[in-house]
Amino acid sequence: MANVEPGPLSRRFADVLDFTTVRGCFADGDPYSGFSICDYTGDKPCHYNKCIDELAATLGVGRCRIVKPRQVHGSRVSVLDPGFFSLDADAQAARLEGLDGVVTSCRRIAIGVNTADCVPVLLYAAAGTGMVAAVHAGWRGTLARIAANAVRIMQQHGGREIVAYIGVSICRDCFEVGNEVAEAFLDAGFGDAVMLGNEDAGKPHVDLQEANRRQLVACGVAPGDIYVDGRCSRHDPSGDFFSARRMGINSGRTFTGIMLR
Ligand SMILES: [Zn+2]
Repeated sequence: MANVEPGPLSRRFADVLDFTTVRGCFADGDPYSGFSICDYTGDKPCHYNKCIDELAATLGVGRCRIVKPRQVHGSRVSVLDPGFFSLDADAQAARLEGLDGVVTSCRRIAIGVNTADCVPVLLYAAAGTGMVAAVHAGWRGTLARIAANAVRIMQQHGGREIVAYIGVSICRDCFEVGNEVAEAFLDAGFGDAVMLGNEDAGKPHVDLQEANRRQLVACGVAPGDIYVDGRCSRHDPSGDFFSARRMGINSGRTFTGIMLR
């Protein structure tokens, strides 16, 4: 069975299942070893396909009901309506190309994002039209306010009382950036998420989790309805999570997903 941790949204709402995969048993020195379903960072198909089958069995759905966008560090979010699921596999893959967020109100469809330090954001509309969203927010997507973009799309489709989970991702202390990235965050109004560099602290640091939390609040998500996991993919001592900064970009990914039951 897959190594899956249930998330805080499913502890509060019976209608939704949110989860984060963990590496489980892995061989030191092999950046793909352990549980990963990512099919575009150089892993062997026999490995990620086996993991997808395990995740499908754990969730109790067919493997074609696990949907992951082909992320590009952009800001595009798309709604997956019932018509999407009548497309063949190639047409579905084409629709998922270049997306960093997906929204659906279809039940028993697990949508999610693959990350290794970037911020996964899950959203659930607890009232109005029931729907879920999964968003990949690296620093570019965070600057482009992709999480807020997903909230607005849910609101336009009748979702209300949106609840959010900000998943395992790189912490501020581990996320050292160049001056130009820090300045871009300052220019975009995320000053509270930036720690400027100085002679003691060295380069600037950005708190991506906080920048995403603030943009969710700004578009109407109640602060008490935002669950921030807080664990850092890079320095968490468990080794449960993939980290591109620790392991290189040619490595597995943590899958953070959500499904309407
Ligand atoms: Zn850290």
